[in-house]
Amino acid sequence: MSEAKIRLYVEHPLGEGQSVVLSREQAHYLFGVMRLSVGAHVLLFNGVDGEWLAEVAEAGKRGGVLACIAARRPLVMPPDVWLLFAPIKKARTDFIVEKAAEMGVRRMVPVQTAFTNAGRVQRDRLQAHAVEAAEQCGGTFVPEVAEMVRLDRALADLGDRQVMFCDEAEVGGAPVLPDVAGPWAVLIGPEGGFSDKERARLHGMDQAHAVALGPRILRADTAAVAALTVWQQRLGDW
Ligand code: SAM
Repeated sequence: MSEAKIRLYVEHPLGEGQSVVLSREQAHYLFGVMRLSVGAHVLLFNGVDGEWLAEVAEAGKRGGVLACIAARRPLVMPPDVWLLFAPIKKARTDFIVEKAAEMGVRRMVPVQTAFTNAGRVQRDRLQAHAVEAAEQCGGTFVPEVAEMVRLDRALADLGDRQVMFCDEAEVGGAPVLPDVAGPWAVLIGPEGGFSDKERARLHGMDQAHAVALGPRILRADTAAVAALTVWQQRLGDW
């Protein structure tokens, strides 16, 4: 059996004998760009059924069909950590979403803060970045990118989820996290940082833990990766 090098995310159930009808874009990628033909092998995942080895059964310019052959890997869920982040410039927001998917977050929530100066967020485009990142990093799960919400609403929706509140006002310290198991969220502010009102609200929440990310002020995209590294190493699956 030839080795499958291409991993593809499909919005389709996967299982023994299951046929997967390809979209025009997927067919173009597999048969036009990657030059696969009937009989070639591909790895498929859908974020639910794990990873499956599939074979090209039909290949055309505008479509095609893959047939599932065998399960390769089970679904592996990342730890229950969300990333709440204030969107910044487009390319840097794309970076945050891509890296957060690779780092193993379960959900991403773009938040509108007092100093968020990014315009509207195109959720579908960001979701596509999360899918690409999962394809590339070997993940079997794809984190959901939520619609942008105001910070106060996002905080109200957290339930009893703990918050790693990355507060630039704490700069100079170490990222000390309490040893609390269960669901968490990492919160990163915008280029302008948090307002006094937002900071006061967060400091008033028992479940929010203000942390420093070392002795330097990091750009928001760097801060997101640094914070997730710390969280994963301390409480996650690293
Ligand atoms: N304009 C702010 C200032 O000058 O203080 C800096 C904001 S920083 C570019 C964007 C976000 O990254 C912050 O709101 C915070 O969430 C996070 N961040 C950056 N550096 C940090 C640090 N050393 N400690 C904690 N959080 C940090």
